[in-house]
Amino acid sequence: MNALGLQEIPKQAAAIRPSFDVQRVRDDFPILRQQVHGKPLLYLDNAATSQKPHTVIDAVSNYYETYNANVHRGVHRLSEMATEAYEAARVRIQKFIGAHCLREVIFTRGATEAINLVAHSYARNRLQAGDEVLVTWMEHHSNIVPWQLVCQEKGARLQVVPITDEGEIRLEDVERQLSPRTKLVALTHVSNALGTINPVKDVIGMAHARGIPVLVDGAQAVPHLRVDVQELDCDFYVFSGHKVYGPTGIGVLYGKPKHLELMPPYQGGGDMISSVRFEKTTYNELPYKFEAGTPHIAGAIGLAAALDYLDKTGLDAVAEHERRMVRYATQLLSEIRGVRLIGTAAHKAAVVSFVVDDPPLSSLDVGMRLDLEGIAARTGHHCCMPLMERFGVPGTTRASFAMYNTEEEVETLARTLGNIVAERRARTQVAISTPLALDAKKPIAYPGPAASSPQEAADELVELFDYMEDWNDKYRQIIEFGEKLLPLPDEYRTEPNRVHGCQSTVYFHMRKKPGSRNTLEFLADSDADIVRGLIALLQNVYSGQPADQAAAFDVDGFFRRLGLDQNLSMGRRNGLGAMVKRIRSFAADMVKQS
Ligand code: PMP
Repeated sequence: MNALGLQEIPKQAAAIRPSFDVQRVRDDFPILRQQVHGKPLLYLDNAATSQKPHTVIDAVSNYYETYNANVHRGVHRLSEMATEAYEAARVRIQKFIGAHCLREVIFTRGATEAINLVAHSYARNRLQAGDEVLVTWMEHHSNIVPWQLVCQEKGARLQVVPITDEGEIRLEDVERQLSPRTKLVALTHVSNALGTINPVKDVIGMAHARGIPVLVDGAQAVPHLRVDVQELDCDFYVFSGHKVYGPTGIGVLYGKPKHLELMPPYQGGGDMISSVRFEKTTYNELPYKFEAGTPHIAGAIGLAAALDYLDKTGLDAVAEHERRMVRYATQLLSEIRGVRLIGTAAHKAAVVSFVVDDPPLSSLDVGMRLDLEGIAARTGHHCCMPLMERFGVPGTTRASFAMYNTEEEVETLARTLGNIVAERRARTQVAISTPLALDAKKPIAYPGPAASSPQEAADELVELFDYMEDWNDKYRQIIEFGEKLLPLPDEYRTEPNRVHGCQSTVYFHMRKKPGSRNTLEFLADSDADIVRGLIALLQNVYSGQPADQAAAFDVDGFFRRLGLDQNLSMGRRNGLGAMVKRIRSFAADMVKQS
């Protein structure tokens, strides 16, 4: 440790430990000691963000506790210390990615901001009408949308390299799509949704043979692979600190100086200038030209501590450990009947993505049931909507591994998933023998009022939920409500009836009850059990009620009283919000027209 409490920067990457002691690693991550829903936390959402070792937490709090000051500005001692630590972090990152010099290492808020910086300051000034930016089908939205924005502005367009059923790009497809119109190639090193490791060095070689620069999105690579930007010879490389055991809000853009020198600043402000006059401002040298304003000093210091930790643990040993996890998870999950893996590339890092086809079970439901068992996995499109479309699925469940995951955890995941699928299969078989099917002769049934007003219906539900001790019981009750949902005829499963903003497919069919003065009623359905349950709750309070009372009902208060605000994730709450919006605007229109 030096005077700042920071790890000394090793001359070379620390020697790799011959054996990897996962229990010792786990002891370094305080968050892993906790329980979730009464079960030990099993954290498998590392591709979204990884947990932090105490050395990172300590480095950040030590900065705030002992030498918090702004950088590059003050002459006083604390400012000098903060500047020294901030710049030492840059040196740390330079070594970590093998950059040639410090001018090439720019701090950003994360991978997303780094890509936007290049899109704005590099591509925007080079693209002309008819030009192309080449991306792959497996890119994260962060490596699609910034290019779309500049392409739209310049009349250029995105070209997309297709992927195979295994989730790999083929070099011959890249070759075919490179043309004199291609002005930049932007591809991910490792896919966040599939885990595929792309042959980026080959792609860079092919692009460079035509004089085309390449940006590599390394957000999912740096925690798992040894990256050397000089060896890759990429023009730009980006990553986020929080996925590599560091803090959120800090990331890195590596760029070759031959590009960075010619690029105009991305943002204006303090620190990025060398002199400011109203007539003319001159810019600071690299890398400061691209670091306007007070940077995330604590973030940079925390990131350096994270890279120290990774080096000390031994990146190669970590990578080998994670490969074992992926192999084992792939084996165990593919043995579960009804589970289909999405992404079976030959070279993969730390990610296993899957869907449950038989019986069909939405990834939302899988994720929520895993959560009840303390297992944190990611569900949905993983910010890769085009990729999900390519595989014909609305989303997947993704288990992503880090250095602290164990083989026992993989077994727990597989056992829990096996139970979820088996339980679902048993319930589906019961449902088939007693179908809630539509009888063509009977008129379609709409739910009538559950009580004399929405408020009264809500009070009754709140009373019922108050008896339940924990989220587990409430969750099961919601699912049971959903099982009794009245069927929605196929004719109402249309695009106008689709409610967007939910993580599952949701249809709402609303109407004014025929013959009534202002009674609102609705049918709805979803492919996710939890959403069907939430629909049932909404029907209970709204359907069959007067539109004016429905419009005035305090639905947020109702959700709070049920405890949904605490237990439903943001994504689900957004979906619930989208359904409520649909009901309320229909009710408001009815009130206007009455
Ligand atoms: N690219 C990839 C491959 C990612 O996985 C992510 C994060 N999921 C990003 C870019 C964006 O990273 P951030 O949100 O930290 O900017």
